Amino acid sequence: MDRFDTLSQAAICAASRSSRWTFAYANDEHYDRERLFSDAHMHDEENPAGEDSYYVVSLRGAIGYAEDGETIDWLFLSPYDEVLPDAYSAPSRANFCPKCGTAVVPGAAYCGACGATL
Ligand SMILES: [Zn+2]
Repeated sequence: MDRFDTLSQAAICAASRSSRWTFAYANDEHYDRERLFSDAHMHDEENPAGEDSYYVVSLRGAIGYAEDGETIDWLFLSPYDEVLPDAYSAPSRANFCPKCGTAVVPGAAYCGACGATL
């Protein structure tokens, strides 16, 4: 999932993954790239996202909005059958024990190799 500050940036990314969308709240509203870009541009001028809000684009090109960085409201759905998460997940980073350097399970309290508190 990719994250953007404006709907226009999200639309450009989404257009590299899909060529048509359906508006989530009116499934007879169909969008092609041209309509998506023009609506996105207008939207950004009129309602720029707040500081803690952002747009996300799914792997198959759906566009969602996370107001205040919380639950994702999926606005534009791509025609692909896709499970859309309701929260943004940052790409996970591998964690390593600061003492011995062994890879540890994210969220673990102790290192499995040397027992150091994490
Ligand atoms: Zn360790």
